[in-house]
Amino acid sequence: MLEGNNVDTLTSYKEHLKEMNLLSSALALLSWDQETYMPSRGIGARSQVTGRFTKKLFELSVAPVLGEYLDALAADGSLTLEERASVRDMAKEYHRQKAIPPALIEEHAIVQSQSQAAWVEARKQSDFSVFQPLLTKMVDYARRFADYYGYEEHPYDALLEGFEPGMTVKQLQMIIDPLRQQLVPFMKRLATEGTPPDTSVVEGFFDVDKQRHMARIALDLIGYDFAAGSLDDVAHPFTTAIAFDDVRVTNRYLENLLTSGLFGALHEGGHALYNQGMPENLYALRLSGGSSNGIHESQSRMIENLLGRDLPFWKHFQPILAGVFPQFQQISPDVLYRAVNLVAPSLIRVEADEVTYNLHIMLRAELEASLIAGEIQVADLPRHWNEAMERYLGITPPDDARGVLQDVHWSIGYFGYFPSYMLGNLYAAQMATKIRQDLPDLDERIAVGDIHALTEWVRTHVHRSGGVYQPDELMTRITGAPLDASHFVRYVEEKFSKIYGLS
Ligand code: ZN
Repeated sequence: MLEGNNVDTLTSYKEHLKEMNLLSSALALLSWDQETYMPSRGIGARSQVTGRFTKKLFELSVAPVLGEYLDALAADGSLTLEERASVRDMAKEYHRQKAIPPALIEEHAIVQSQSQAAWVEARKQSDFSVFQPLLTKMVDYARRFADYYGYEEHPYDALLEGFEPGMTVKQLQMIIDPLRQQLVPFMKRLATEGTPPDTSVVEGFFDVDKQRHMARIALDLIGYDFAAGSLDDVAHPFTTAIAFDDVRVTNRYLENLLTSGLFGALHEGGHALYNQGMPENLYALRLSGGSSNGIHESQSRMIENLLGRDLPFWKHFQPILAGVFPQFQQISPDVLYRAVNLVAPSLIRVEADEVTYNLHIMLRAELEASLIAGEIQVADLPRHWNEAMERYLGITPPDDARGVLQDVHWSIGYFGYFPSYMLGNLYAAQMATKIRQDLPDLDERIAVGDIHALTEWVRTHVHRSGGVYQPDELMTRITGAPLDASHFVRYVEEKFSKIYGLS
């Protein structure tokens, strides 16, 4: 009889997940619509709908009956690999959600929207003091959440866990320190001894309709399935998996910056391929978020940088680009390739190149960890930010808007999120080493437009398993070793030494 009971428990558990999935799907669609087509005055009614559905979803995620299913299923040896992974992730989420008193969650949600509004205003005025009182509250909440979640060594570990399972401050520091020691001098060598590429060919005026068309072509090229997706305009691009067979990409286009729309499309397309590559049962088991935020980011960076910012891609894409923008007819693939690979310390993270990007992340990760540990105070954040910018990138922000106020994350309480961006770059480079071993003729294939070999490799090794494996487990399965940043260092040193003519 016990077996029969467990079968019932599993069925009930899956039914419970289905209820959650239906609500998540509706919420994702509402949120996508809010960013794309919702009229501005629709926000009043929309926030009521979103608020109600969010509350319902939260109630399902902490329902005592779910706790009972999870306890029973944790002891059930007959579950499949995917079902076990689902129970592992759902149990973790259940206990984290349960750990926070409901009153605190509500209070946090209210302060969160005030905090985001204060950040918008502070950024507009470029005045940190406008944001400081609310940020102080948000940091305080994050510290309390960390205490409720629990941790062994560092309170920031508890927050990292929400984005990158298994990652800790200690591990992060072991990645960051050597990486910084290699990247900072390399960046300086490029600046002092190298010859920067000529970027003038990608500057000018580029019709937005044509850029939109180009983005569609690029998404087609990488195998994004438009029959199970869409491409729409937004202010801040994102990709959202509304449901299985409904994975939507958004993008933005700048008239004077061709690369923003193209690499934006490739980046989001990389995220979308991950979700389009997962089988339906992983959606049903709520494993469609992927292995971690960092692994998700590795898939976008793989397509954006390792494919899109490499020479073979431009050999194939140059005539396509020239078909859309005739001014590129006489520009060689090599010139285009170089033009999209300028390395320069910049103030703004989202505009950073492959070499300096991770330095922006390290700075944020270190400040976050210190804030959460109470080692530094919010009031001193602009000073710490500017000092770190000078130390890592050799530049000092002229104002807060282009410094400590540039990212939305802290205003909405996303402490622990930033490291995912860096880890994504590192994971992608490590995977690429293996891909090149497995596919020695990859460059030749990409140069003639055969992107399939690459996308099939990531589909087989990364996408198909969705969130079944934890990041380190996945990396070990794929590459034979857990995360190792040396692949990234080797990749950027080789690539940019060549472009910059370093001996
Ligand atoms: Zn991304």
